Amino acid sequence: MSRTHLLRPRVILPHIHDITPDFMEAHGLKGLLLDLDNTLIPYGSYEERTDVTAWARDLQTAGYALYLLSNATRERARIWAQRLGLPGVGLAGKPFAREYRRGLSAVGLPAHQVAMVGDQLFTDVLGGNWSGMFTVMVRPISDNALPHTRLTRRLERLVLKRYGHDWAPRKARTGTDTPLTPPPEGPDATINPDSRHGRND
Ligand SMILES: [Mg+2]
Repeated sequence: MSRTHLLRPRVILPHIHDITPDFMEAHGLKGLLLDLDNTLIPYGSYEERTDVTAWARDLQTAGYALYLLSNATRERARIWAQRLGLPGVGLAGKPFAREYRRGLSAVGLPAHQVAMVGDQLFTDVLGGNWSGMFTVMVRPISDNALPHTRLTRRLERLVLKRYGHDWAPRKARTGTDTPLTPPPEGPDATINPDSRHGRND
């Protein structure tokens, strides 16, 4: 990954549920480091998410290694790691490399076989690319209204536009936008997620 592409996610997906064993296989991935807030669950939420728990369990059952890498407080990360049945840490200091290295060491895999999955470009994706990992950006589950987050989202949108991705907030999306999910039936149903979002490596 050249320095100029450190802010370029390898793949953009609508939701973590698009990360399936087939997706892992197609990209030569054996493990995931997972952001928590707005990636797995809505920002700040403690509400149980059985769909996310089932998703994580299914991937683990299929032999993939998962690890929670969160910038949330240690206590919040600990509670969610326990609920989801994953190892992991809070206060990870993303995008800085130290906890990415520890996460890779915990899953026991080389960086190129592990994807960092997160909703933020300047923490999750930047740090993942910096660490030599595959990077998956997912759309944030919820909008949190903190002023610095709004600014960050605007900057993310500018960067992603440069790479040919339309990153409009969910509520502003229109029918003319690139569809994020294929129709339930029809030729697009088998489309590779990569090809739906502009340029990907
Ligand atoms: Mg996040």
